[in-house]
Order: sequence, then C-alpha cells, then structure tokens
Amino acid sequence: MTEDVPVRIRPEIAALAPYKQGKQAGADAFKLSSNENPNEPLPSVVESLRRTVGVNRYPDATAARLRQRLAERYGVLPDEVHVGAGSVSILSQLMLAAAGPGDEVVYAWRSFEAYPGLVLVAGATPVEVPLKEGARHDLDAMAAAITDRTRAVIVCSPNNPTGPTVTQAEFEAFLAKVPRDLLVVLDEAYAEFVTDPDAVDGMTKLGRDDHPNVVVLRTFSKAFGLAGLRVGYAIGHRRILDAARSTAVPLSVTAQSEEAALASLDAEAELLERVREIADRRDRLAAALRTQGWNVPDAQGNFVWLATGAQTMDAAAAFETAGCIVRPFAGDGIRVSVGEEEALEPVERIAGAVLAGLPATHPARR
Ligand SMILES: *Cc1c(COP(=O)(O)O)cnc(C)c1O
Repeated sequence: MTEDVPVRIRPEIAALAPYKQGKQAGADAFKLSSNENPNEPLPSVVESLRRTVGVNRYPDATAARLRQRLAERYGVLPDEVHVGAGSVSILSQLMLAAAGPGDEVVYAWRSFEAYPGLVLVAGATPVEVPLKEGARHDLDAMAAAITDRTRAVIVCSPNNPTGPTVTQAEFEAFLAKVPRDLLVVLDEAYAEFVTDPDAVDGMTKLGRDDHPNVVVLRTFSKAFGLAGLRVGYAIGHRRILDAARSTAVPLSVTAQSEEAALASLDAEAELLERVREIADRRDRLAAALRTQGWNVPDAQGNFVWLATGAQTMDAAAAFETAGCIVRPFAGDGIRVSVGEEEALEPVERIAGAVLAGLPATHPARR
C-alpha cells in the first residue's frame, strides 16, 4: 500500500524505499543478520558508561579526547581524525560534502546496502560496478567508470556482504590510475577481522602525503562490539575532514560513546583476542560450508556469503525456521554473520539441507 506524501518532497527522496533493518531475533534465536559482535561488552567498558555523568550537558562536539587518542594510535594529527555517530554517518557527511546533483559516485555492487541511499540523498547519481569472479571488487572496471562527473569512489574492504578484501597491490594500482583530486573512501568497517596478509590496510601502509585524496573509515561497531552506541571514525586529510565536519549534524557523538570508545582502546589487546576467536570461528564455518559443497567467497569479515540466487528467500526462511536469523538479499544471496560458537552447528546443518535442495548446476555450488 503506497500512501501519498502530504507535502512536497524531493522526488528522488520520495522514491527511496523506507529503511529496513536486519530482522530482530526472538529470545531463543541466533541473530546472525547484522554482523554484530556476539560478545557482551567488557566490564571496563560498561563501567566507563556508568562513570560518564551529566546527561543534562551536551557532549564535547569535537570528541577531542578520542581524536587525540586515535591520532596517537595511528601516528597522525588530531585534525586528521574525525569521529562520527557510526562510520556510516561520516560516509553520509563525505557524500554531502563531495557530491551533489549531476555528480556521480562509483562503488562496487553488490556491496554495503547503505551506499546507494547515501549517494541519492546527497542528490548525486550512484554508478554501480559489478563485482568480478570470486565476489571481489573489479577495480579496473571501477577506474574505467570514472568520468568528469565522478566526485567520489567508495572501496569496501572486506566487502560487505560478500567477504573478500581488496589487496594492497590492487589498491595501489587503482590509486595510480584515478585522478589525484578524486575522493577515494576506503571503508574498512571489518579491518580488525582480516587475516590475509596481502589485504589493504589503510592505516599502516598509506602515507597521507602519498595519497591525500584517500579517507579511511573505521568503526567501533563491529570488532569492538559498540554497535548500539554509534561511534566510528575517519582518518584522512584535514581539509577533507573539515568539509565532512561542515556537513555533520552537530553534537551527534554522545559523551557515553566517546567514553566507551576510549575504554575499548584501553582494553584493545583483550578485545582483539576476542576478535581473533571470531575470525577463527569464521574460518571453521567457511571451511565446513566449502566441504559441504558451497562456493563460499574468501571470508575476511565476521560473515560468510552464500550465493543462493533465485532461491534466496526460501533459503533464508529455512534458516529462520531453525532459529537462525540471517540477512537475505533477494535474488542474490544470504549473508550469515559469525555469531556465538553454539550457532555454528545449526547454521551448518541448515546450510547442508539448503544446498541439497539446490539444482546440481546452481552457481552457489563449488
Ligand atoms: C557496519 C558497517 C559500517 C559501519 O557502521 P557504523 O555502525 O555506522 O559504524 C560501515 N561500512 C560497512 C561496510 C559496514 O558493514
């Protein structure tokens, strides 16, 4: 049922589908639909929230302490760090700052479902470049898609929802090809889960002097388990981040999220040990699925991809019936987040049953 909007809305906004979140799981189901961290927060992180007093006061609009801390962590200046209410909000700011009506933004597809909406809201036109073999970014095709109208390129590594990374060599070759004044956003929301030594690492390997057009996005939502608090950050050229700051909704990073992020950095070693456990669980899950006969793309995030194609919605329903809420992308595939250890057995069991029901020549098979 579509209802008319009672006021005049920008037509490209009125045409957007309303936001749809990953399904909420019932109490006894495993929620494997939003790439969240299954672990409870560390006691020290919970304690930091308790310590943060004064919700009657506005937070520090610049998140100065967290920026200072991240700057030390990555060997950059505080002005080269920007903190937002989740890295998605920073991506939104960058799109608003860089691209407007008549401009284009290039990204791979399928990739993060937020990209098309953020580009359209900025008034710009999405240019989606199909993934290549192995569900990987086709950076040559993406470079070829750049025109005079392109104002930004988004590279997602590891790619949500398919899993593979872009390699450092591929990324450098790509940067050598693109105009030096074109914004390149490297979205590394899952960087901490990466175990492939050849993968791009926006922080350690890119000198900001070499590539002043590159902005790296990271988040506390996934590996650090703070999805509910909304805090992410960007590292890049001060003047690019100033432009993002200019388009930001002021004061959206709360004192609580800043404090919890600082406490998480204090406990980084312990948290990264938990991340290693999730990465190990991911590798065991991917290996088991491949043994069943699934063609699982390289999985470097905290999720695996099953290219169920036309059978996607039926397959997702089978997972749900068995108490595993997964994320289906109709007509394309299913993303299964790596959750609790206890979720592996049911996920593998349903996956086996789903595969048995797919035609012998289905592309989801190896
Ligand atoms: C989860 C995710 C983000 C970040 O989410 P926030 O919670 O807004 O920090 C960014 N990019 C991708 C590809 C993601 O999957």
